[in-house]
Amino acid sequence: MAENTNSKPATGAFSSAVNGGMTVEECEKMINRSFRSPMVKFLKDQLEKSGCAIASNFIKAVHCNEEMSGGYSMGRGISVCSNHLQLQDEVTQVVIHELIHAYDQCRAANLDWTNCAHHACSEIRAGHLSGDCHYKRELLRGHMKLRAHEQDCVRRRVMKSVTANPFCSEAAAKDAMEAVWDVCYNDTKPFDRAP
Ligand SMILES: [Zn+2]
Repeated sequence: MAENTNSKPATGAFSSAVNGGMTVEECEKMINRSFRSPMVKFLKDQLEKSGCAIASNFIKAVHCNEEMSGGYSMGRGISVCSNHLQLQDEVTQVVIHELIHAYDQCRAANLDWTNCAHHACSEIRAGHLSGDCHYKRELLRGHMKLRAHEQDCVRRRVMKSVTANPFCSEAAAKDAMEAVWDVCYNDTKPFDRAP
């Protein structure tokens, strides 16, 4: 599901990826390098163990016209938007986030992306488990892990993604997110706990 670039926290988790970006070729190299990340390795392993091994062309670098950093779709796999990203860390982050969507699709064959609650649930998990909102990681080197801030950040990003779903109005997205929040935020599979 599409991730809006402007859903990144204003405090600067990532450098502004809106100007500049990189070529598709540069982005492909970064996607390949992301495979060295322990999180990416783990998620690929878990997909394989769940019967959904991903082929080498599953993750593609593409030029995106919309304001998004990446996306997952059942038929097309994972897209990483080269023109909206600049750093290795951003690319790895997008790959991790989208792999969590792929994992959700794998374990629940009946996952229906047109259902706002299903979509919200996967966004909650992807936002929480990918560490998208651990922006302090770079800024404050680990201290001050404020749970409330993290959850606010995940909520903001879930709303951006779910409201971009043509089947979900803002009100429907909000209701869906609140309804499934506790269950989905606490569902950390395939991790034992949130990484
Ligand atoms: Zn997402």
